Amino acid sequence: MKGLFPIDKFKNIETPFYYYNTSLLRETLNTIKKETAQFPNYHVHYAVKANANNRILSIIRENGLGADCVSGGEIKAALKAGFPSDKIVFAGVGKADWEIKLGFESNIFCFNVESIPELDNINELASIQGKTASVALRINPNIDAHTHHYITTGLSENKFGISLIHLDSVLDHLITLKNIKLIGLHFHIGSQITDMDSFKGLCIRINEIQEHLYQRMIIVDSINVGGGLGINYEEPDKEPIPDFRSYFSVFYKHLKLRPKQELHFELGRSIICQCGSLITKVLYIKEGINKKFVIVDAGMTDLIRPALYQAYHKIENITSGLAPEEYDVVGPICESSDCFGKIVSLNATHRGDLLAIRSSGAYGEIMASQYNCRELPKAYYQDEL
Ligand code: PLP
Repeated sequence: MKGLFPIDKFKNIETPFYYYNTSLLRETLNTIKKETAQFPNYHVHYAVKANANNRILSIIRENGLGADCVSGGEIKAALKAGFPSDKIVFAGVGKADWEIKLGFESNIFCFNVESIPELDNINELASIQGKTASVALRINPNIDAHTHHYITTGLSENKFGISLIHLDSVLDHLITLKNIKLIGLHFHIGSQITDMDSFKGLCIRINEIQEHLYQRMIIVDSINVGGGLGINYEEPDKEPIPDFRSYFSVFYKHLKLRPKQELHFELGRSIICQCGSLITKVLYIKEGINKKFVIVDAGMTDLIRPALYQAYHKIENITSGLAPEEYDVVGPICESSDCFGKIVSLNATHRGDLLAIRSSGAYGEIMASQYNCRELPKAYYQDEL
C-alpha cells in the first residue's frame, strides 16, 4: 500500500473522492493488448456501465478498445470520449425508441437484441429511416456463473436474453424482417466470475448452439461472449491486474469459431476496478456495545456495492501507522445498510484520518446518487495531481 497514494496531496482535497491510478489502468490495457495480440480476430470492448467517467473512457479509447453500451446515455458518453461508432455495441433488455434511433444516427456496429418485440420495433424504426439494422441475438445460455445472485445473468430464471427453447422461433421470425440483418450471437453470464470453468461451460454451450445454427445453414460473423472476469477484492495489491492470459486462453482452447468468425469481449470490472479507490475522512469514532464504529464522510451514496450486494471491499487507514484494531466502518446516510465493512482491522484510527476503500473503480462512481441531498463525489487522477 505504501506509495500507492499521494497522501500529502490528498490532505488538500475535500473528501470523499475517487482516486484513479491511471498508470495501473494503462498497464492493464497494455496487458490486454499483449494477451490478445496473437489473436487478430479478438476484439475487446469496454463495458461503459462499469465507469463512464470521461477521463477513464478517453484512456481506454486511446488504447484501441471498443465500447459496450447499455443506454443512449452511454452511447453519448462513448461518442464524446471519441470511441469510433463502428466499435460501439448497444445491449440492454429495454431499449427506448429514442435510444434505438440514436444508434442508427450514430451508425453503431450492432444492436444486441433480447426479444421478438424488440426485434419488431427495431425493424419498424429501421424501415422508417430506410436503414438495415445489424443485430446480434443475446442468448441466455443457462450457465451458472457461480457469483452473487444479483450479478448472475445467464440463468433461464434471469430477465436477460432469449432462452434456448425460444431460439428457433426467434430465428424463424427474424428472417421475415426486411430491415434486420443477423450478424452475431451475444452472451453474458454474469459478473465477478473467478472460476474459469464457468467460461469453459459458456464455450461448450456456444459450440452446441453454433452446431444447431449450422444445421439451419446459419453462420454468423461474430460471437460476443460478454464480460464478467472477476478481480481480487480481498488482496488488490497481490493481483492489481487480473489474469487475462488464463481468461483469453479458455476461449482459445474451448470455443470453436468458424473460419473468419470474429470474437468480441465486453469487459468492465476487470479493466477499471483495481485502478480506483474511494478516499474518505474519518469524522468520528463512536463507542458501541462491544464494538467501535468508525464514522466516515463517504456513504452508500458514493459507493453502493456493500449495501446493494453485501460486496466486500478492502479498507485501509492510509494515514495511521499505529497497531491495528477492529472497527465497523459506517457512513453518515440515514440507512442501516450504510456500512462499508464489519469487524474491519484498521491501524488504530482517529478523527481526521484518511481511509481508502479499495477496488472501487468499477460500479462505484457511476452508481453514486444524491440521496440525502448529498453532493456527487469528485474524481482525481494520479497523473494529474
Ligand atoms: N456485458 C453485459 C451485457 C453486461 O450486462 C455486463 C455487466 O453487467 C458486462 C458486459 C460487463 O461485465 P463485467 O463488468 O463483469 O466485465
